[in-house]
Amino acid sequence: MTIKYTPMMEQYLEIKSQHENEILFFRMGDFYEMFFTDAELASRELEITLTARDGGQRVPMCGIPYHAADTYIAKLISKGYKVAICEQVEDPKQAKGIVKREVIKIITPGTIIAENLLPDNNNNYLAVLYEEEEELILAAADISTGECLWATFLGSQRLTALYDQLFRLMPTELVLASKIESIEKLNTFISNRIPHCTHTTLAIDNLKLVSDLPKQHFMTDDLPQEDVALTAIGCLLYYLHQTVKTDLSHINRLINYNTFEYLTIDSTSMRNLEVTRNVRDGGKKDTLLYVLDDTKTAMGGRLLKKWLEYPLMNTTHIIQRQDSIAELLEKPTLRQTIHETLANIYDLERILTRIEVGTASARDLVALKSSLVVLPTIKEQLQKTNTIFLSNLHFYLHTHIDLVTLVDTAIVDNPPFSVREGGLIKRGYDLELDELHTIARDSKQFVQDIETRERENTGIKSLKVGYNKVFGYYIEVTHSHTASVPLSYVRKQTLANAERYITPELKEFESKILGAQEKIVTIEYHLFSKIRDHIKVYMKEIQETARQLAQLDVIISLSEVAFRHNYIRPTITQTREITIKDGRHPIVERLLKRELFVPNDSDLNHHSNEIMIITGPNMAGKSTYMRQVALLVLMAQIGSFIPAREAIISPVDRIFTRVGASDDLSTGQSTFMVEMNEVAQILKHATSQSLIILDEIGRGTSTFDGMSIARAVIEYIKERVKAKTLFATHYHELTELADNHKTVKNYSVAVKERGSDVVFLRRIIPGGADKSYGIHVAQLAGLPQKVIKRAQELLVELEQNHVQSQNLSLSVAESAAATTPMSLFTSSTVDELLAIDITTITPIEAINILYQLQNQA
Ligand code: ADP
Repeated sequence: MTIKYTPMMEQYLEIKSQHENEILFFRMGDFYEMFFTDAELASRELEITLTARDGGQRVPMCGIPYHAADTYIAKLISKGYKVAICEQVEDPKQAKGIVKREVIKIITPGTIIAENLLPDNNNNYLAVLYEEEEELILAAADISTGECLWATFLGSQRLTALYDQLFRLMPTELVLASKIESIEKLNTFISNRIPHCTHTTLAIDNLKLVSDLPKQHFMTDDLPQEDVALTAIGCLLYYLHQTVKTDLSHINRLINYNTFEYLTIDSTSMRNLEVTRNVRDGGKKDTLLYVLDDTKTAMGGRLLKKWLEYPLMNTTHIIQRQDSIAELLEKPTLRQTIHETLANIYDLERILTRIEVGTASARDLVALKSSLVVLPTIKEQLQKTNTIFLSNLHFYLHTHIDLVTLVDTAIVDNPPFSVREGGLIKRGYDLELDELHTIARDSKQFVQDIETRERENTGIKSLKVGYNKVFGYYIEVTHSHTASVPLSYVRKQTLANAERYITPELKEFESKILGAQEKIVTIEYHLFSKIRDHIKVYMKEIQETARQLAQLDVIISLSEVAFRHNYIRPTITQTREITIKDGRHPIVERLLKRELFVPNDSDLNHHSNEIMIITGPNMAGKSTYMRQVALLVLMAQIGSFIPAREAIISPVDRIFTRVGASDDLSTGQSTFMVEMNEVAQILKHATSQSLIILDEIGRGTSTFDGMSIARAVIEYIKERVKAKTLFATHYHELTELADNHKTVKNYSVAVKERGSDVVFLRRIIPGGADKSYGIHVAQLAGLPQKVIKRAQELLVELEQNHVQSQNLSLSVAESAAATTPMSLFTSSTVDELLAIDITTITPIEAINILYQLQNQA
């Protein structure tokens, strides 16, 4: 039996059939209504009552008032849903039959423009992935700021490189525009690392049409050459147009992120080093971003984050940034003046977007004006600078005086939020509007005059002229004076103690005055829209200014932090060294207060100190030290000054870290497997220009296994990779490596023993440690005294056994006439092992290899 619905419900179903992936907000009068499963879902998510409507059948329904829609939409979007807004597109009074309705826009997590839905200091990216013949393209846009970028990933490791990009961008929405080969891996990565990301698949019928879109949109030939890239960018534009359904000409610059131009920090290392997000809750607190951020504008905040995500490789560019920080430190008044002035600047990029799509309010224009009005002060200060970076900012910063004048003469200083209720335009801006205002103003006097005159004529002293929305203007007389009311008064309303009347004169006055009010509102809206549209002419220029301001804000922030926390300028060289004197961990020193933090030296270079093996007890400060080195290098490569006494730093191409241990439960991998995977990635990607930090690798397996792996990894890095490496370990045995290799050096964390008391000095000193002090740490942690005592006894026993067994094994080795007792394998075995690609072989292949090796032994 076919179900018969009412015509309105038929209309709903027709529209809904085209929007199956969105919650459809169906406008009915003052409400947005939702039906069927949308209603059930929305009532649950929004905690609103689920009712029903008779649509020919009983249809589940829930609704929200249109004026409160923003809050509800925000809630749905933050939960990853998409909302399609369906409006009545004709006047219900004129409609024949059912009023026409259309979806006018779709709101999705990656295409939000509304101010209240966007975090200030974070971009909100929509990312599109397109893959064709092993070429993977990422095209992304933040429509709230107008930024648009793309990057290509090739080769067998393209997915890994893509992850690193995605981890930086943290898109809130990912659109798959083609079949992505490793979709499962990608999904796992996203759900583990980018938890709040909505997925969409985009079916495109005509790829040729789509790949023409970039040219039409950007109106330039300066576009990527590759067809694949054009298709990916085209898909992005296509999706945006389909969704936002407005002009997007504020997206007018396309940036290519060539990963080789930047220091690459993979997503694991970004997390381990807490560059922009802390490990605790993914927030900003106690991250490198947090300690370096003294930016005053939202644009600067976003850019600083980007600088940290994309540190530079090019020494000239790094030095240019350093020069400008140095200049700002030499000119404190200039620095402080600019810093304070920047605080007056609103989020220009997002205001411009709202202007572009026509949702900017009069308050946005006032915010724009108050941001632009301070630009001459900034420009004047910048004129006094002479380093390249700052002079460039001076050159490209416009002051937009015309625009300031326009908004200042037209828009009142404190406009209401709504743009449709008047009160926006200043007197003197428009003649007709001024006249209407005169009528409205005079009306007060007019009401007064009538009241005085009627009181005199009737002799009723308490007679009042009043106004309400239902009856308009009226004359009110208390019941006790009803007898004195003239015949010309027409009774309109009776109250408990008074009667209300109208007169022809009052009615005439009323239509004139109400007409004027209505006209004021219409004219004001019209004038406002005209000004708003006019600003679009300046769009590109203001966008350029906004970019200069963001850079200025970041550089001022870095110099302010450098000044306040006593950072120094590292010398940037190409000498392939990292030499730091009295370096400090930028985050830990803040948490501890600087006096308590023990500074340390680092010395890494290719001729004598390539690999530092750091031994020392738990809690001694090893990982703090290693992260410190990585963070200082990263800081240096964004052009920042660093917490140290002096330093020479040569840019590195990648930073790798393998620290901590966590089970990757979602992929069913054990801690050890995760660790080995990470090590495999590092060995595969690291180059002689890289910096590697390995903290306690090989812990997740038996001691001998772990030690062998740790050692083999160091040997591999030493022989093949030649990257600068910091390696913290428990295995004291590894310190022997330094005896055989010139560029491997031992370090340990100084410890002072006072009787049975042990003090960690936090000082990294040359030489290996000879004790692990684990029991001491257990004691610090509050283990019962009995346990501690027993552990001490056992330790003595074990150490004695160890010495005996060592003597035994030495004699075995001697009898086998081993010439290189320190090497675990013969050199041909090592070569064979090194040739194996651990990440690709199957367990059976591994067993076969072991079998062969055993046979060779
Ligand atoms: P390990 O890696 O050797 O187990 P950590 O690096 O985790 O030790 O450091 C242990 C604690 O010591 C940290 O919580 C940190 O606050 C403190 N610490 C580390 N390095 C220093 C230092 N240089 N100065 C002062 N305190 C430090």
